[in-house]
Amino acid sequence: MALHAHQRLRHDVVLRTLEVLRVERLTPHMQRVTLGGPELRGFHSAAPDDHMKLFFPNGAGELALPTPGPNGLEFPADHEPSPMRDYTPRRHDAACGELIVDFVLHGDGPASEWAAQAAPGQRLGAGGPRGSFVVAGDFDRYVLVGDETALPAIGRWLEEMPAGTQAVALIELPEAADRQPLHSRADVDIRWFERNGEPAVDSHRLEHALHELPAIEGDSFYWIAAESGRARTMRQGLDQRGVPKDWIKATGYWKAGADDED
Ligand SMILES: Cc1cc2nc3c(=O)[nH]c(=O)nc-3n(C[C@H](O)[C@H](O)[C@H](O)COP(=O)(O)OP(=O)(O)OC[C@H]3O[C@@H](n4cnc5c(N)ncnc54)[C@H](O)[C@@H]3O)c2cc1C
Repeated sequence: MALHAHQRLRHDVVLRTLEVLRVERLTPHMQRVTLGGPELRGFHSAAPDDHMKLFFPNGAGELALPTPGPNGLEFPADHEPSPMRDYTPRRHDAACGELIVDFVLHGDGPASEWAAQAAPGQRLGAGGPRGSFVVAGDFDRYVLVGDETALPAIGRWLEEMPAGTQAVALIELPEAADRQPLHSRADVDIRWFERNGEPAVDSHRLEHALHELPAIEGDSFYWIAAESGRARTMRQGLDQRGVPKDWIKATGYWKAGADDED
């Protein structure tokens, strides 16, 4: 196989209604919700940064879910559509029939507000993952950079990394109490950065840490997920340093000042 060959996988889109089984406040700004129910059967997620569309109750408190149509998702015409947002499948246990999603409690917005009040027995819609980007496993080092919204993907990636892999994780959080224990068989250097009240858009902690990260002899893959302007800036910084495009995946996970409706 070629050096550093990533794989793109496509999956049929399946829309599910899932039930809340358990809710646990992991840290001040992170609510863990365990989902299950008969429709979880067949769920599959192949890459740690996969995402699903989650659908939340509309203004009337109802789930008005779309169906896949020839022009994409089609919502029922006679109901206010359920707001949808992107979330990471943090951990899936097919044998137990459980899917964990970790929600950042950032305040505003249907997803964050739903997560803050989530309770066993409630339902929500889930679509996908529609595709997976499986990063090549033959890099000499993996550099994972992200804010709290990226922590589910980073945590999952570290858990799934094989022994012998070298990784550095640069993680920015609202405050020190939001740190989580992250487990890995890989050789991992985790560095935490806390904003302590500074708005995420004004912070340059990740940018600075990434810029200061010493290069290594071999090849590094860079995965970045944060507020979209910041993710773009970090990608540009790597581009300017001559890092090949295929060695970078930088994604805006949220947009300052805009809701994420699409
Ligand atoms: C591929 C992918 C995977 C993701 N995985 C996760 C995940 O596992 N867990 C998770 O919590 N999030 C995740 N996100 C981010 C999440 O989709 C967004 O934060 C989303 O905007 C939250 O929706 P909302 O309804 O709470 O707020 P919205 O209605 O979208 O936004 C309302 C307001 O809140 C602001 N806002 C949105 N998110 C944040 C934030 N994190 N911090 C501060 N202000 C914010 C917006 O700028 C806006 O002003 C992921 C995003 C992507 C693209």
